[in-house]
Amino acid sequence: MKDVVEGGCFCGAVRYQARGKPANSMVCHCQSCRRVAGSPVVAWLTYRLTHFRITKGKPAEFPSSPPVRRTFCAKCGTPLTYEHADSPDTIDFTTCTLDSPASFPPTHHSWLSHDVGWVKFGDGLPSFPESRPS
Ligand SMILES: [Zn+2]
Ligand SMILES: [Zn+2]
Repeated sequence: MKDVVEGGCFCGAVRYQARGKPANSMVCHCQSCRRVAGSPVVAWLTYRLTHFRITKGKPAEFPSSPPVRRTFCAKCGTPLTYEHADSPDTIDFTTCTLDSPASFPPTHHSWLSHDVGWVKFGDGLPSFPESRPS
């Protein structure tokens, strides 16, 4: 079961598991992520929806823009997941809610067109004005 990773919110009310390898690992600079997290950037991992499950509690949810559903812990407010109607087979979750976020470094930065400007990354990773072109 070493390909199973676990994570959860700050207070422990919500826990989750993901299985297998992430399809994507990135840092998002978009305005929505910034507002939702109260943070200049948010790191995300993408998994197949069938490889992700909530194992404890029930996160609260809201539509952050019409095709996007985000969830968070209703007790402590930790942002947890992101689902887009155009990608119904995948789910993103916040890399830093994992118990082992150091094991999942990002491969690129997205939405630099929204960047707040005062955080400078020296990681040399590719960055894109919007989503990474597929
Ligand atoms: Zn919580
Ligand atoms: Zn974003």
